[in-house]
Amino acid sequence: MKRFDYNTLESAKRIKTMGIGKIIEQDKEKWTCPECGHVIHFQSKKCSNCDYTIE
Ligand SMILES: [Zn+2]
Repeated sequence: MKRFDYNTLESAKRIKTMGIGKIIEQDKEKWTCPECGHVIHFQSKKCSNCDYTIE
């Protein structure tokens, strides 16, 4: 039986792929569009995909 802790698995995967960039990745989560999950540009506060805008 496989019993993976998804949080641990995700964290490990993230560290492995992002390396030191994981801090940036964590910060980027603040700027993820709640509508579509794409990146919100922090300059324009606007989603790159669906034009969702942070108020
Ligand atoms: Zn969006």
